[in-house]
Amino acid sequence: MALEFPCNFVLVCAMNPCPCGYLGDPSRRCRCSPHDVRKYRSRISGPLLDRIDLQIDVPVAPFDRLVETRKGEPSAVLRERVQAARERQLHRFRDSPTRANGLMTPKEIQHYGQPAPNGWALLRRASQQFGLSARAHTRILKVARTIADLADSPQIELAHLSEAIQYRKLDRNPDL
Ligand SMILES: [Zn+2]
Repeated sequence: MALEFPCNFVLVCAMNPCPCGYLGDPSRRCRCSPHDVRKYRSRISGPLLDRIDLQIDVPVAPFDRLVETRKGEPSAVLRERVQAARERQLHRFRDSPTRANGLMTPKEIQHYGQPAPNGWALLRRASQQFGLSARAHTRILKVARTIADLADSPQIELAHLSEAIQYRKLDRNPDL
């Protein structure tokens, strides 16, 4: 018997990088051993981690940065770029029930998720270095397709793929 549990949600979560919380912090010394870090991170199961598309480091913001008045890209501009990328996806999948890159079927990934020449070599290297799973591969290609859409690029360039690979922070060996 096949059961379906339809759901559509965005999961956003945060964790410390290690038990003491200071791994990678330039101002405080982390007291954890690589073994401690591995044990701590293994509390999140691999299959669950695999399904988290964007895994990033959020470094502690120094005080100067918190009070800095210089602004990044305004939200309104960002919104327009995101909307344009969404429209590109709606157009791409106009003949399919798929509505966004993240929901591409394996066949659609084959069709729309092919990276630029050398892309496969880069993905293979990253995969060997970080021990990425097949699911992580698929996730990387979907995210890379979206990064390319945000840049209005018909092709997934090496820069888009590299950026997507960088978002697999927790797949990596903590010793690296
Ligand atoms: Zn630590």
